[in-house]
This record gives sequence, structure tokens and C-alpha cells, in this order.
Amino acid sequence: MRVILASSEVVPFAKTGGLADVAGVLPRELEKLGHEVSVFLPAYQSIDRIQHDIKATNVAFEIQIGDRLVAGKLLETVLPDSQVKVFLVEQPGYFNREDFYGQSGEDFSDNCERFTFFCRAVLESLIQMDTAPDLIHTNDWQTGLIPVFLKTDYNHHSCFKTTRTLITIHNLAYQGLFDYEKMAVAGLPAEYFNWQQVEFHGKMNLLKTGIVFADMINTVSPTYAKEIREPEQGCGLEGVLQERADQLTGILNGIDVADWNPAIDPFIEENFSADFDVRVGSSGKLACKQALQKETNLKQELETPLIGIVGRLASQKGWSLILPVMRHFLENTNVQWVVLGTGDPSYHHQLESLQQRYPDKLGLNLGFSNEFAHRVEAGSDMFLMPSQYEPCGLNQMYSMAYGTVPIVRRTGGLADTVVNATHETCEYGTANGFSFDEFSEEALRSAIKSALQMYSQHRLIWNQLMQAGMKRDWSWRRSAKQYEELYQRTIAR
Ligand code: ADP
Repeated sequence: MRVILASSEVVPFAKTGGLADVAGVLPRELEKLGHEVSVFLPAYQSIDRIQHDIKATNVAFEIQIGDRLVAGKLLETVLPDSQVKVFLVEQPGYFNREDFYGQSGEDFSDNCERFTFFCRAVLESLIQMDTAPDLIHTNDWQTGLIPVFLKTDYNHHSCFKTTRTLITIHNLAYQGLFDYEKMAVAGLPAEYFNWQQVEFHGKMNLLKTGIVFADMINTVSPTYAKEIREPEQGCGLEGVLQERADQLTGILNGIDVADWNPAIDPFIEENFSADFDVRVGSSGKLACKQALQKETNLKQELETPLIGIVGRLASQKGWSLILPVMRHFLENTNVQWVVLGTGDPSYHHQLESLQQRYPDKLGLNLGFSNEFAHRVEAGSDMFLMPSQYEPCGLNQMYSMAYGTVPIVRRTGGLADTVVNATHETCEYGTANGFSFDEFSEEALRSAIKSALQMYSQHRLIWNQLMQAGMKRDWSWRRSAKQYEELYQRTIAR
């Protein structure tokens, strides 16, 4: 298959979230499966041209944006350790800015112009390079216009005669909303501004446009694919998603197993693997726990359970539940906590005041540190992630790969990755964590209690839980095979 993946973020060039991982890792895995995949992203100024060996091409274009003609050029390089071509759309006026989408908490006012330009530049480049793709894989609202352009302006172009489109939704909460006047910027016929196509409560909605016009739709976990068809998590798009339910599926993201592997991780105290005697436990993991206790000034007690949290301090992650429940456990039990995260200042303050009260039970790092994230995953016994919603979630997969038993709310990707420990699942050997349904303090408290009880009273079963998580394949290879299959189904439509 010849596939083009278009994305506003791609690791290692530009990243703010999981979208970048999908766009940077999936093409390499698909290449290993024998497919020809190229990637397009904007040439942001923050991308180091020398470090990434980015070169000019002879492709240049002029694109109609409203009543202006805007010129741009195409640059190229490859994804590291692969032959996957990466094309960068250069337009200094649009992409030479400090950030990708906005400044000081405000979106750039010309985001519709910027990403219209990007979408059209992808198609113009393909025509100039005489590339006829079998499939264009678009991602989120930023590339949501490509499917409609292929069905309008580029409908009859010989390059795209058999081209199909897929849109992946990474987070439904971000939709790319613009005033009606921007229809002219996008160059869409005015009659498309209706509730069944581009319009959403009086605005243009680029994600909705992508969902309506793409041949196939997917999101980053099977459970999230179901949840977004209901009002609670549908962000107003549940109707259109329900309408297209037959073309909507979910594929879990993978984790980068070269980066997140306790057997070779350079950032942790001692390397360890799933290959330990469940009657004895993992001495390597214990060494990591001791080192983490030391690093965060907690009491050096190996038998005391240690709960880790890594992630954005945002309401999505369930902080309204975590804080009161953590306070309860700090007051009443001998449980240690380590938190790594940044975000909402009110959560920062509350965590700081808890830490001042319980300095030997709560270790706190209110910053961003990839290396420390590795040490928290390696040194904790349990990992807490009671998210309100979670399209996929990576941290619970990292923790399971590191033998750290997750305690999660059963939503989105958390529901698809964590198997709650019950008599049955423990007997079958499928249990790998603890999960609960209701978004309430009581439900969270009770799940933590169950985990603590098993940790202190049934260590053998606990160790089996650890091993089940460590042995499961969380790699991108698994996800890439599912994308391959989805691409094939899309092309066959
Ligand atoms: P989301 O994309 O919603 O933030 P995920 O669990 O999917 O949540 O991914 C979060 C990613 O960001 C993980 O790789 C996690 O380790 C990382 N991360 C989040 N906060 C921090 C932090 N403060 N320091 C280091 N890494 C962090």
C-alpha cells in the first residue's frame, strides 16, 4: 500500500501530545510490514533543520487562501532509523512562530488559514510529485479538511482517482471551530455550511468536516470509540459519530518499547524484567523503589506500599477525586505517594500544602521530567489514573511494562488495557490491575483499598499481577498490524 500520513505533530520533530507519537512511530512500523508510507507536517520554526538533516525539494506551490495567493515550499528528510520520507510544508508567515497552535493561552486567529494551507499543500505536493496514494491518513481537526477537498476541488484529479481517506480522532474535545466567514478561506462551497456537513452550532467545525467526509474513522481505543457516540463523552458530535458508527473503530496506541523497557532503561537504579520468581519478587524493582524513596525524601521502608502518579495536573485526570482521597490515606494509613506533574495552579497549591504536612509520605515534583517519570514508573508499587475520560492513555501501559500495578477508572483506553483483579481473572491469570466504574471518591478509595489489601496479604497473587502486565505486548507492532488491516478495509470500500 502507498499511504500518506498527514499530521500537525510528528515525533521527533514536533510534539505536544500522543498524536505526535502515532504519527512518528506508526509509519516506521508500517514500513517494516512492507508498506510505502510518507509523512507530512508543517515546517515549524522550532524544528532544527541541521539536526534533522532537512533539505529543500524542487516542489513549490501557490495556494488560494480566501482572496490571497500564498506561496510555500516543500522540504524533506526521513524518520530516524527508517526510510520513511517526511515532507515539511514551509510557509514562514504561518509556521515561523513560537508555538504550534497559539500564544498565551489563545489560539492563533489565523489557524483556519494555516491549516487550510497545510491541507492543500499536501495535495498540491502529491500532484507535483506525481504520487497517487491508496490512502491518506488524516489526524484530528488540523488535517480534517483533506477528505472534503478530495471530494470537491480535487475530485477529478488523476492522482486521487482511487485515493481513500481515514481520519483518526486523538481527542474529541479539540474540534477546530471557526466563524462562518472562514468558509471562504477554506474555499468550501457555501452550501456545505449545514448541520449535516461542516456547520456546528453556527460555526465551521473542521473535525466534524473530517468525520463527515472521510471514508473511515477511528480513534485511539475501542472503548473510546463507543463512548464518543454517547452524549456524555461525545462533545456534541455524538450524533454524527452515531450516524457513521459502521465506519468507526478503535485501535489502541502502542508504547515505544525501546524507550520504556525496564530491562534496558538507562534512567533507573537497576534494570529488571518479568523473569523473576513470583514467590520471591523482583529484587531489581525493589532496588528502584528504594532509590525512589531516597530521591523523594520518603522513609526508606521497603514494605510500605508506594503509589505513583505521573501526568498533567488537569481535571481530565481525576484530580478532584485524587486530592481528597490522597488526604484521607495520608492522614490514616502508612502509604507513600510520589507525584510528578504540572498543570492547573490550584492543584499545585493543594499538593504543596499536603506535602508540607506529610513530607515523609508524599514526594512531589511539580515539573516536567522524562527521566524522573521513568523512575516513578520503575519504583512505585501501584500507579493511579482515575481519569474522567481517557482516549487511550500511555502511562498505565508504561506502568504495567514496569511491573507497577495500575489502579484506574474504567473508561476509554484504561478500560481496554487494565483487567480488574477478581477471583476469576486472578485464577485465569489475566488480571493486571484494579479498575472501578463510578467517578466518585468512594469508588476510588475502595479500589485503592483492594489493591493495598492484596499487596499486603496476597503477595504471590500480587507478583502474578505484576508479571501479567509486564508480559503483555504493548508495542506499536501490535497496533500497526491493526492499522494495516484498517487501511486495507478502507481501500476496499
Ligand atoms: P495525555 O496525553 O492525556 O497527557 P497520556 O498518558 O496519554 O496522557 O500521555 C502522557 C505522556 O506525557 C506520557 O508519556 C507521560 O509520561 C508524559 N508526561 C506527562 N506529564 C509529565 C511530566 N510532568 N513529566 C514527564 N512526563 C510527563
